[in-house]
Amino acid sequence: MDTVEFSLVVPCYNEEDVLPHFYAEVVPALDAALGGDWEIIFVDDGSRDRSRQLILGLHLQDSRIKGVFLSRNFGHQAAVDTGLCHAKGRFIGVMDCDLQDPVQVLLAMYAKCKSGLDVCYGVRARRESPWLLKFFYSFFYLIMHKVATHDWPRDAGDFCVVSRKALDAVLALPENSRMFRGLRSWVGFRQLGLPYDRPNRRSGKSKYNLRKLIDLALLGFVGFTDFPLRFIGVFGFAVGLFACLLMFFVVLNRFFPQFSLFGYWVGVSPVATTILVIFLFFMSILFVFLGVIGEYIRVLLQEVKGRPFAVVDTTVGDVARPETPAR
Ligand code: UDP
Ligand code: MG
Repeated sequence: MDTVEFSLVVPCYNEEDVLPHFYAEVVPALDAALGGDWEIIFVDDGSRDRSRQLILGLHLQDSRIKGVFLSRNFGHQAAVDTGLCHAKGRFIGVMDCDLQDPVQVLLAMYAKCKSGLDVCYGVRARRESPWLLKFFYSFFYLIMHKVATHDWPRDAGDFCVVSRKALDAVLALPENSRMFRGLRSWVGFRQLGLPYDRPNRRSGKSKYNLRKLIDLALLGFVGFTDFPLRFIGVFGFAVGLFACLLMFFVVLNRFFPQFSLFGYWVGVSPVATTILVIFLFFMSILFVFLGVIGEYIRVLLQEVKGRPFAVVDTTVGDVARPETPAR
C-alpha cells in the first residue's frame, strides 16, 4: 500500500454550509505543516443536501481530497470507522466537519504523535453548548470514567490523531457496535489528552438530536461497562443482609425485649415485620439469581463482542506473528 504521512478522516452529514469553510481553513494549514504529504477523506454519511457534489468538486480540484460515500445515513460513529478503514496515513486524524475542532490543535496532536505518542486526543476544556447538553455530557463522562471496564478519559470526543499502530489495533477489533473513542482508549499504547476550548459550530445546525445522543451514550455504556450486570447481584446480597438483620431484631425483641435496639419499631407489629422479612428475603434470592444470570450474560457479551483479550505493542526476538482477526 502506498502511504501518506497524514490522513484526516472527516464525517459529513448535510454539511454543505460548512464544507467550503473547512476546505479554506484546513487545507492551507495542512500544507504548511506537512508540505503536501496528506490526504483528507470525507465520509459522506448519506447527506441529502449538496455535500456529495461539493466533495466531488473538491476532489476534482485537488486529488488529495478523497470521498467515501455511504449508501445511507449510518450515523457519526459508522462514518468515522468507515473513514478510518480507508485511510493510508502513517498518522491518522479524526475531526468534525463543522470546525468545532480547531486545526491548530489537530496539528499540535500530530506533532505529539510524531514525537512518539500513539494516541493524542482532544479534551474539551470549555464548550459553547447549551447548559443542559453540557450537563448531559459531563454526567455521561463522569459515569463512564467511574464504571467503564477500562480507563475511559473524561470529556474526550473523537477528535484525535493516532499512529498507524494504534489504528490497526482499533480496526482489528471485530465487534460491530463500535464507539471509536471507547475502542481508542481500550487499545492502550501511549496516550495523551490535550485540553482545548471547543467553539460553536461554524455554520449549519448540529446533526445530533436527543435520540442520536441517547443512542451514542447507550453505545458507550453497554459496550464498555459491565457494572449494571454486577450490581444486580450485589443489590440482592444487600437486601438479603438487611432481611437477616431485621429478622435478628424480631427474634431479639421476642425473647429479650430489654436488649432490643429497635424494640419499639419491631415490637409494634412483629407479624408485619416477619412478613416483610420473608418478602425481602425472597426478593433478595431473586436478585441474587438475576445477578448470577447477569454474570453469565456478561461473559456471553464479552464472547459475542469478540474483542481480543489483549493488544500486543511490540515483541523482541523471533516470535511467531499471530494474524490479527480480520474484519
Ligand atoms: N455526522 C455524521 N452523521 C450523522 C451525524 C453527524 O457524519 O448522522 C457528522 C457531522 O457532519 C459532523 C460530526 O459528525 O461532522 C459531528 O456532528 P455534529 O457537529 O452535528 O455534532 P455535535 O458537534 O453537535 O455534537
Ligand atoms: Mg459539531
